This record gives sequence, C-alpha cells and structure tokens, in this order.
Amino acid sequence: MTIDPGLSKTSLLSHDERLDRLAEIAIRVGLQLRAGQELVLTAPVDALPLVRRITEHAYKAGASLVTTLYSDDETTLARFRHAPDESFDRASGWLYDGMAAAFRSGAARLAVIGEDPSLLSGQDSQKVARANRARSAAYKPALELIVGFDINWSIVSYATPAWAKAVFPDDPAPVALARLWDAIFAASRVDGPDPVAAWKQHNAALNARTSLLNDKRFSALHFQGPGTDLTVGLADDHWWEGGASTAKNGIVCNANIPTEEVFTTPHRLRVDGTVRSTKPLSYQGTLIEDIAVRFEGGRIVESSARTGADVLAKVLATDEGARRLGEVALVPHSSPISHSGILFYNTLFDENAASHIALGQAYTKCIRDGDKLTPPQLTEKGANTSLIHIDWMIGSDQINVDGIRGDGGREPLMRGGEWA
Ligand code: ZN
Ligand code: ZN
Repeated sequence: MTIDPGLSKTSLLSHDERLDRLAEIAIRVGLQLRAGQELVLTAPVDALPLVRRITEHAYKAGASLVTTLYSDDETTLARFRHAPDESFDRASGWLYDGMAAAFRSGAARLAVIGEDPSLLSGQDSQKVARANRARSAAYKPALELIVGFDINWSIVSYATPAWAKAVFPDDPAPVALARLWDAIFAASRVDGPDPVAAWKQHNAALNARTSLLNDKRFSALHFQGPGTDLTVGLADDHWWEGGASTAKNGIVCNANIPTEEVFTTPHRLRVDGTVRSTKPLSYQGTLIEDIAVRFEGGRIVESSARTGADVLAKVLATDEGARRLGEVALVPHSSPISHSGILFYNTLFDENAASHIALGQAYTKCIRDGDKLTPPQLTEKGANTSLIHIDWMIGSDQINVDGIRGDGGREPLMRGGEWA
C-alpha cells in the first residue's frame, strides 16, 4: 500500500512523519510503556509500516521484548468460505491463555485496528455468531485483565484501503485513504507542535469533567430524544472515568487513542425505557443499523434493527449479561470527531462522536475502589458481567440528558447534545 503525502490538506508534516508521531503517541501516551516491560501487539498485516515504528519506539522506551500477532482480512474470509462446519466453534484458546500469561507477568497490550467494517456482512450469520462466541469465551482470561486494567493497554488505528473505501465510498481509492488518514491523525492529535503536551492538556480537560460528575453522585441519567426515553440507573459507588487512567500496575495509560468520552457503570437492574441508535454499529464485520430496544428492570425485553437484526439477536443471546448494560458514556455532539461529520464504521471513532451505552461487561475501574472488591461484591453494587462489551451510539444534537439525584431532583447535563 502506498499513499501520496501531497494529498493531505491539513498538515505540513509528511505522511511518514505523522505515522512516526502516531507510533510515539501509542508508546508514550497510550501505554506510557515502562523500561523493562514486554509488549504484546496485535495488528492487521496492512499496518506493518506503523507496527515497525511502534516497535522502534517501544525498544527506545526500554521494552524488553515486543511480540506482534498479525491478522489479515483475506485469511479471515478464507475460513468462512472454506472451513468445515466444526471450525466455527473453535478459537485459539492456547494463544489467548498465552496472552493472559504475558499480562500476568507484566506485559503491556497494544492493539492496532483497521479492519474492513463490513468484512463478514455477506457471510452466514450463524457461523459469524458461533465464531464470535467461541472467540469471546477463549479470550475471556486475557480480556478480564484488560477490562480490569490490571495492565496498561491501548488501541490505535491504521487506515487500510478497505476501511477507507467503507468510509468514503465515492472517492477514488488514494483520495479515500488520504482522507481517512487525515481524520485519524487529527483525532489522534498528531499534527500540533507538541502532540504529547496536547494529550496532557486534553486529559486534564476530561479529568475536570469526571471530577465534576463524581462530586454530583447522581443516582440515574435520563436520555430524551427522537425514539429515546431512557432512564439509566447508575451503579452504587459508580465512578466516572475519562482520558488517562491509572492501571493496577501503577502506570497511567490512555486506553483509547482517540478518546473524547467520560463514562461510568450503569446499574444492571435499573435501566428502563426505550432507546434508538443514532449511528450504525459495525460489530465484527457486520453492520447493525437503526437499533431500537426496550429495557425493563435493566434487561432488554424487545429489540429490533433495520439491518443485522439476526446478528444483534444472537449477540443478545450470548449470555444473561449480554441483555444488560455495562457502560454509559457522555460525549458532546461538538466533539472533534463528531465535528468531522465522518461516519467511521468503527467503534473507536464513532463512540467518541456521540454519547453511547454498551451492552455487557462493566469496567471495575468505574466502581469506586472496584479493584478491591470481589466479583459478587461488584455484582451487588450493580456492575454487570458478560462475555461481550459492545458500545453503540445513542447521542445526537437532538438528545437531552438530565442527571437525577437520589432525592429525585433533576439537573440538566446536556441540551441538544452539548454540555449544559
Ligand atoms: Zn465508551
Ligand atoms: Zn465501551
């Protein structure tokens, strides 16, 4: 893959310089990789130019060993086209056990993403669901260490031709790719005079917002807008997070590059009403559009979607927790990613363009002193458990959000999608 750096209209830096800055941000901001730490890296083969730079920055930061596992859209498709039926209940458990072992012995985790958002759209949804389920179950030991912030971890993105085509279908391939790169670099704050300082400032702004919400101790949030009238009860001792956070290994990391959200844990039993998605959800290669669900006592009791309804139904059937919420997040409609007007078909970006909720597993970090509690104690506070964690967007410029206090009083938090 090549890209003409001259196509960028937003930066004086060359493509290679921007790529190098993105790699530096991944290591110095995303992970704050510590000298002597191992790094487990996953990436699509397309992202090799970025992986090489990340690896270089990791060793310069003192990494003891960088191990990269590559994925490839074409080989993923080959499985769906040619593998025997029994293949779809299998996953590389040995690999995920190995990743979990690496994390337990102190390794950091970095994911580079850039997959084709509709790679599996044409495949048998039964097989897709079975493969996802098998993978989720096998990945659980490693995922728990990530979700629980036992280690410093981060996700950055790489513009692949297939992803660029999905985002800018009407542009010639090189133009689409250059536009997606511009959007990724801008959202990842690589273009300014000092990207690391820019991230420090951005983290401070997000932390100010979470401090304010943590002081309020709301018992619920109320979302209202077209097709949406949803009360999201917040877990007892819920804790708002946003921007950088401190992992249990003591390292401050930015788990998502980019990030614009502040988020916390809903109460698994106290979500009621109806809600409609405001952006398509790309879930492991399937596009799920116009989701509408109704909650009763925290549980989804009715669901529909205009496309991908069968995949959504199977996702909800993953386990008991898949029908309940594990996250609620607030993002102003004017966030830079939303402002770009681009639909990325990628949760890392789209979730930072709109307020959202996530089905499934809750983050223990989003319960006060959650890392000192046992799983039953976390459940008691209202934190949900599931094999899945899937964010979908419910915010827009037409959504109002109120904070509801313990005494039933209300305070406006967002009006027309902006902080009130
Ligand atoms: Zn989120
Ligand atoms: Zn999430």
